Amino acid sequence: MLASWSAIASLGAFRPAGATEVAVDVGHTLTDRGAVSARGKYEYDFNAVLARRLASELQARGLAVRPINFDGRIESLVARPQQAIGSDFFIAVHHDSVQPHLLQKWEWQGVPRTYSDDHAGFALFVSHENPDPATSLRCASAIGAHLRRNGFVPATHHSDPSSIKPRQPADAENAVYYYDKLVVLYKTTLPAVLFEAGVIKNRDEELLLDNPGYQARMADAIATGLAACLYVR
Ligand SMILES: [Zn+2]
Repeated sequence: MLASWSAIASLGAFRPAGATEVAVDVGHTLTDRGAVSARGKYEYDFNAVLARRLASELQARGLAVRPINFDGRIESLVARPQQAIGSDFFIAVHHDSVQPHLLQKWEWQGVPRTYSDDHAGFALFVSHENPDPATSLRCASAIGAHLRRNGFVPATHHSDPSSIKPRQPADAENAVYYYDKLVVLYKTTLPAVLFEAGVIKNRDEELLLDNPGYQARMADAIATGLAACLYVR
């Protein structure tokens, strides 16, 4: 497994002349693993798997890939967009949690855990403060549209007035929202999107997100949407 992952990473270092390059960023790190799923698995581990699948799907479409944080050891948030300078597009891969007040208790394999089945679905975030908000939004919409066309469910809760920080919809039909102050989206020179694959606190959705077939179909749909967007620039 590790060997093929590093093969993908090394492929990303070679950029065919004229190829459009996508910087694919694994959200979180080995020491700050992000959200914890309903069954106690860390978000970082979900992100690392999906980002690698996405990288190979993008390469299969003739796009070059620059892997960011594929070893989980990146030193800071700002290092992510810095390492992406020279690429054409930046996509950060994440998995979502829920707000703490929604969490309920259960036991999984004898261990007390928390979950919430209230929310589900993928979402994409863009920033007004990105240097190229038009391309960011166009590609986010294309990714969301291809995911929907392939049967993936868009999240509907991010703009809920009842949530602590409701997000302004950018293209709600395709689950695209504004999240202006995300470092990876605005401290950058590239059009950028942050992708949330789904809600790992949701017990059913966690199982899907952990399923290799589901991951493969999702990576395929993201790559198709992003390639379509980037090739018509
Ligand atoms: Zn995250």
